[in-house]
Amino acid sequence: MSKSPEEEHPRKAFGWAARDSSGVLSPFKFSRRATGEEDVTFKVLYCGICHSDLHSIKNEWGLSTYPLLPGHEVVGVVTEVGSKVTKFKVGDKVGVGCMVGACHSCDHCKNDLENYCPKSIQTYNSTYHDGTRTYGGYSDFMIANERYIVRMPENMPLDGGAPLLCAGITVYSPMKYYGLCSPGMHLGVVGLGGLGHVAVKFAKAFGMKVTVISTSPAKKQEALERLGADDFLVSRDQGQIQTAIGTMDGIIDTVSAEHPLLPLMVLLKTNGKLVMVGAPNRPLDLPVFPLLMGRKMVGGSLIGGLKETQEMIDFAGKHSITADIELIPIDYLNTAMERLVKADVKYRFVIDIGNTLTPA
Ligand code: NAP
Ligand code: ZN
Ligand code: ZN
Repeated sequence: MSKSPEEEHPRKAFGWAARDSSGVLSPFKFSRRATGEEDVTFKVLYCGICHSDLHSIKNEWGLSTYPLLPGHEVVGVVTEVGSKVTKFKVGDKVGVGCMVGACHSCDHCKNDLENYCPKSIQTYNSTYHDGTRTYGGYSDFMIANERYIVRMPENMPLDGGAPLLCAGITVYSPMKYYGLCSPGMHLGVVGLGGLGHVAVKFAKAFGMKVTVISTSPAKKQEALERLGADDFLVSRDQGQIQTAIGTMDGIIDTVSAEHPLLPLMVLLKTNGKLVMVGAPNRPLDLPVFPLLMGRKMVGGSLIGGLKETQEMIDFAGKHSITADIELIPIDYLNTAMERLVKADVKYRFVIDIGNTLTPA
């Protein structure tokens, strides 16, 4: 019989996990492996709440196994390193994003695209090389092979920096890959949530013109004045969409739920690119005619490889980019999840693990 999560490894660990698809999290005792030769262990200080955590605890993608302990925007301070670790030492500020393993021999892995490795291991809700479940960052400490550890820039506040490990790389990678990162280009960003607001910041740092496309008129003033967007369109307002038809080189769509693509396709210039990064649990209708008429394309993108993640975070450090966060104590977690359903967060919840997570 397999051992319980509390007994399978030598080190006692503690966090908050979902036990079923109700969407409720509660305190959870488990265990983590001892620090292996290539491993880095760190005390978790902050962990962002990604909408993927919410999809996962509710099993909206049908991929969840319980208990499920989320969190893949994890930062903290190194407490122990294995004998073969070369890049990190005790006291370093580090983070872990969405992945903790991959095969390291396929073409994807050889080309720094571990995120597309068919054997990639997610930070939570995955099975690790040793056959045990992976548990995420809503927990007191974290361990990963050093290949999956990201160095946080010295000047970056760790609480606002944490969300970059998923939200940041998820928007940065497609902007680079699809060539939507040149000064003067016009980028649309759909959905002003965790991913969307960081996309606005990166696009402005690249020197682009940015238009936010949102269902929330109340977010307009802040989008323009605080985040530096150039324009703001309410996606359900036909009249507003009309004013911007055929003006955008690309659009990054971060929406977490079903929504119509037609109002977005018409905003693109000829040869424009609509890049999907949001992950609704149901297929969306693809309007083919506007696609044909302007030789437009629809693409997708999944987080980013570790090399690019480090590049992204260094770029963010250089340009003083962090997420705008609401820092919450761990016992606010279930309320935060309820608010995230309603797109009621500016713009990322981050859990103050270091100061508020106390073992039961
Ligand atoms: P979030 O903070 O909840 O933001 C999503 C935004 O989408 C909301 O703030 C809202 O913006 C808009 N929205 C929500 N419901 C909508 C609806 N029914 N119709 C139209 N717009 C709606 O979520 P997030 O953490 O940024 O994540 C966004 C999505 O990306 C999730 O599905 C997540 O799982 C996925 N994701 C994908 C990757 C990847 O690698 N591809 C990585 C991370 C996350 P407005 O109020 O402005 O309309
Ligand atoms: Zn995420
Ligand atoms: Zn691989």
